[in-house]
Amino acid sequence: MDVRLDANTHKLRGTQKLTYYNNSKDTLSRVYYHLYFNAFQPGSMMDVRSRNLPDPDPRIGDHIAHLKDNEIGYQHIQSLKQDGKDVSFHTLGTLLEVTLKKPLLPNSKTVFDMEFEAQVPVQIRRSGRNSQEGISYSMTQWYPKLAEYDHQGWHTYPYVAREFHGVWGDFDVKITLDPTFVIGGTGILQNADKVGHDYERSGVTVKRPAGPLTWHFIARNVHDFAWAADPDYKHEIVKVPDGPELHFFYQPGEKTTDNWTRLKDFSVRHFQFMNNTFGKYPYEVYSVIQGGDGGMEYPMCTLITGERSFGSLVGVTAHEVTHSWYQGVLANNEALYPWMDEGFTDFAANESMASMFNEKAPHEGSYDAYFALVKSGLQEPASLHADHYSTNRAYSIASYGIGAIFLHQLKYIIGEENFYKGMRGYYNTWKFKHPGPNDFIRVMEKISGMQLHWYLNYFIHTTKAIDYSIKSVVENEGSTFVTVARVGEFPMPIDLMVTFRDGSQELYYIPMSETLANKPVENESLLRNDLVAWPWVNPTYSLRINRQPEEISRIEIDPSQRMADVNRKNNLIEFPDAFKAYQDSTR
Ligand SMILES: [Zn+2]
Repeated sequence: MDVRLDANTHKLRGTQKLTYYNNSKDTLSRVYYHLYFNAFQPGSMMDVRSRNLPDPDPRIGDHIAHLKDNEIGYQHIQSLKQDGKDVSFHTLGTLLEVTLKKPLLPNSKTVFDMEFEAQVPVQIRRSGRNSQEGISYSMTQWYPKLAEYDHQGWHTYPYVAREFHGVWGDFDVKITLDPTFVIGGTGILQNADKVGHDYERSGVTVKRPAGPLTWHFIARNVHDFAWAADPDYKHEIVKVPDGPELHFFYQPGEKTTDNWTRLKDFSVRHFQFMNNTFGKYPYEVYSVIQGGDGGMEYPMCTLITGERSFGSLVGVTAHEVTHSWYQGVLANNEALYPWMDEGFTDFAANESMASMFNEKAPHEGSYDAYFALVKSGLQEPASLHADHYSTNRAYSIASYGIGAIFLHQLKYIIGEENFYKGMRGYYNTWKFKHPGPNDFIRVMEKISGMQLHWYLNYFIHTTKAIDYSIKSVVENEGSTFVTVARVGEFPMPIDLMVTFRDGSQELYYIPMSETLANKPVENESLLRNDLVAWPWVNPTYSLRINRQPEEISRIEIDPSQRMADVNRKNNLIEFPDAFKAYQDSTR
């Protein structure tokens, strides 16, 4: 792409040459592009949806409805050629439908040449000009972007609210604008010594020509390209040992300078944690850029608001950087499987934050939000398309919360060691390939030797909840008999911890019949009694403890609290002074 931005009119003119490879087995007679800026027009689907949700995103609210002509966003396609010949196209809101002159056969390629003009909208959501913090241009979803075609067909989602899915490719982008602007974005700057702005190699004297300046970026093997520009950016660089070069762009000031200066060291530590725990970041560069309206991930960069407390600044940076693994490199379809992107990202970022700030329960917030949602009756399955939830709250907990719990609870099912091996295995097997839920669960099945499809099915495709309880504890011939009840419909393997009056503990492990195998022992210093599997159809399960009930002080289901049991009150029974036969009269 070769584009020119006029900072007086906020208009962008450009050309795009796209070589498109059809690697599918299908012949394509059409292709589609996204025209995301068109969402920022009164009456657009984004506008109407926001005005009809019970809990709209306050950044959107009814702001789009009130945009004036010189404030809206648009992308106009002025011409489009396929292999040198004009093709017919028409705009459908935020989509462009193109009827090919010549059908594109399997294993062949074609070249599209496009001329387009765009108006950068005032900043409403993610992209735009003049953000609240005064960043001139947040250029995300800014160019006509080819839609993804895969084994599920065309992914032609109109831009209603959120989540993106793109085609893998190599981007070669030239951006021309007033030379006072500093640009941060996706890719590696090719003409650093000409551009300067602290990109140049040390010792180089930059001689910029008078007039507009052209920036040349190349990004290989990414599925999107984003950038931001501001004349006041301070640009600083640090290197992650054995990792990428990190670039930071922020407007210096009272609310930013101190925190952004400290942020650099924490960002390095976060990259090191991620590389060691979840697989290695594959690109040479990553940029943290002040811009946009919150935090949004893009390949090789993020745009975040910068006037934050230090904790919040590190938190949002850790989250968006972590997206590089899930949204950036694995790049599952975020719109269909937001839990695999936002949820996995939340999970990994929270683990890293816990290690940096010495927190004990990084996922507690996810569980609490999920429990509250279940209680509210507003829960919808996590398998719903991201735009189609009836409330923003149900979307956000289904994707962030349930996605994070999905992993933390998977640790409980298959054991810590298998889990982390599995996370790295998933990353290394599926990077740059757009995996789906089945691909993930198959990696975990192979590494653990356990059947796990039931888990994916229940937790992602339904709203059935987990609830186990201790139903009875009785004495018989010198032994203790415990009956556990499955109160909820969602079956799970059970860890049952028994604490004796002398302070010692034993774990009773009840596998669930569907898994066909046991998780490995997680704690070698604790005696684990492996019991026969609980057939999931049975509402109750009884086990025998070969000790007198008088010796027992406490019996607890899931002491690690990794199981998302929606009622933990009935998980525990204590005998503080003496044993008394126990029977839960409600079951
Ligand atoms: Zn996110």
